[in-house]
Formats: sequence, C-alpha cells, structure tokens
Amino acid sequence: QVAESLHIINGFAQKYFAEQLWQTQEGEAVAQSYLEERGFRREISEKFQLGYSPQNRHSFVTAALQKQYNAELLVKTGLVVNRNEELLDNYRGRIIFPIHNNTGKVIGFGARVIGKAEKVPKYINTPENEIYVKSRILYGAYFARQSIDKQDECLLVEGYTDVISLHQAGIENVVASGGTSLTTDQLRIIKKYTNNLTIIYDGDSAGIKAALRGLDMALEESLNVKLVLIPDKEDPDSYVNKVGANAFREFVAEHKKDFILFQLEIMLKDAGNDVSRKNDVVNQIAETLSKINKTEDFTKQQEYIRQCSGILRIDETGLTTLVNKYK
Ligand code: ATP
Ligand code: MN
Ligand code: MN
Ligand code: MN
Repeated sequence: QVAESLHIINGFAQKYFAEQLWQTQEGEAVAQSYLEERGFRREISEKFQLGYSPQNRHSFVTAALQKQYNAELLVKTGLVVNRNEELLDNYRGRIIFPIHNNTGKVIGFGARVIGKAEKVPKYINTPENEIYVKSRILYGAYFARQSIDKQDECLLVEGYTDVISLHQAGIENVVASGGTSLTTDQLRIIKKYTNNLTIIYDGDSAGIKAALRGLDMALEESLNVKLVLIPDKEDPDSYVNKVGANAFREFVAEHKKDFILFQLEIMLKDAGNDVSRKNDVVNQIAETLSKINKTEDFTKQQEYIRQCSGILRIDETGLTTLVNKYK
C-alpha cells in the first residue's frame, strides 16, 4: 500500500522534473546547457529520464500538494522535507537522476548540483524507505538487462554518469553501485543475470580499495571477477568522453585483469623483499582462495592455487593445505 503510493509519487516527480528540464527557461539555461557541456546528448538524457529541480524551494511541493499527495508520504520519498512545519523541496537547482527498479518503475533519485559542489553535497540521494533499499540498488540495471544477457557479462562502475556515458558510447551492459561499497545483495542480483562481472573503477587508491573489498564477497557468490582500472584522475565517464567509444572499448579489452591475480600482484608489490610481509601475503591470498565456492568452482580453485603458488614461488601442496585451513 505505502509502496504503491511511493511509486506513484516518484512517477509524478520524474515527469515533473523532466518537464522542468526540457520545457522551462530555467531548465534550458541552467540544466540543459550543463548536460550538453558534459557531453550528454538529448536522446540519452531522455532515455534515462533525467530532470531538473528548480531553484525555488516551493516548486515541486506545490505541484505535488495540488495533486493531493499526502504530505507524510512526500517526506518519505525524500523529495520534500519538513522544516519547522513548513514543507520544502529537498532538491533545488539540481540535475535529477531517476533510479528504476527492474520493471522500470522509479524508486528513488540521485540529485546532483550543477557545477562544482561548494559547501553542499555533490549528490543527494533518496533516504531508505519501503521501496528504496540502498543495499539492493544497481543503478542502470533496468536499461542494462538485455545487453547483459547478450554479452553474458556485467560491467560495474561507480556512478550514475558513468553508466549514462557508456550507454551513449554503445556500451549498455553496465550498472553502478552508487559509490557505496558493494553488497552481497547487489552481487546476487548480478549473479541472476550473468556469472561474469567486470569491475571498472577509478584507478586511484580509493577505487582500488573499493574494488578489493568486493572481491571476497564476489567469490563467495561464485562470480568470475575481472578488474579494469581507469587511468589516474579519470572515471569511465570522463575517460570515454576524452578518448571516444572505440578507444575506450580497446582500453577495457586490453586492461581486463583477473581479479585474484591482480590482488596478488599489488600485495606483492607492497610487500617488497620483506619476508614476514610476504608471509602475510601468502596467508591473505590463501584466505581469498578459500572463499571460492568449492562445490561449484572446484576446478577454478585448483587452477588458482596452481597459478598463485607459481607467482609466489611456494609449494603448491603447501598452499592447498593453507587454503583448506581457512573456512
Ligand atoms: P560526476 O561525474 O557527476 O562528478 P561521479 O559519478 O563521477 O559524478 P563520484 O564522486 O565519482 O561522482 O561518486 C560516484 C558515485 O557515488 C556517484 O555517482 C553517487 O552515486 C555517489 N556519490 C558521490 N558523492 C556523493 C555524496 N556526496 N552523497 C551521496 N552519494 C554520493
Ligand atoms: Mn574516485
Ligand atoms: Mn566518478
Ligand atoms: Mn564523474
């Protein structure tokens, strides 16, 4: 009941914000020009149902109350805030990114400031409610589904704009985790679509750390995980806009690394010649390998043990014993 009402309000809001973007002077001057500057063509902005929330802090709430929507529910959607008994728009002067469930209904929004974020958060997202459960949201999944089936691969990026820019470049099997660290629920959703996950994160240390945190979880879900790191200071959106669709595809194809071997490589690099630290690396990789689902992926685990012991120059049976000690 509540869920249904929230869907209806979100649907209304999506149309309202799209109208503000495409059919008002403010939208044209402030928001259309921003999207254009970033390289989003109108067609792609329309496909993802982008919108604009006007500066005036009463604009959406007035329209919504005229439609007789319940104030409490409006607050629940996060579109409206109650400040000292006054109802105000929560998103003001922002680009609106609707977030869809797998049937295409709008369950929430990401709202981005236009230009640089000074003293305000760059994005404001819908608060948790009956239909918006952050740990289960994969932005773009609704639009990616067919392509994931066809390619038998799901690309995972960090942000809304990464998903949209890749679509524009003809790469449609892509979803975003929305900046939070990956959850088991999100991985299970991906697993329903495909066994092959390619994580494409920023090449900075935060991006690498975020990716590594997801690895053990992904192995437990029996996903084959590959990793692509985008060059420093870029993300998939900025990089595809910089080099173009073809060069981006080539980059991904050439830089796709096996995730386990990648983890081993960077841990070894960190450890250098220090023997006790190398021992830590052996233990850590053994723990990671122990996460591989034995009933489903026994051969895969064997193969990794073989490769890792080779790279580490340690005895294969020894590593096997160590792997079996974990779990
Ligand atoms: P843009 O290209 O518009 O700057 P982005 O996607 O590159 O956006 P990042 O800073 O890389 O932005 O963040 C990745 C994702 O993390 C965002 O798309 C958004 O989902 C989420 N995010 C970023 N900043 C915030 C914030 N302040 N509050 C909530 N979520 C955020
Ligand atoms: Mn980053
Ligand atoms: Mn980014
Ligand atoms: Mn970006």
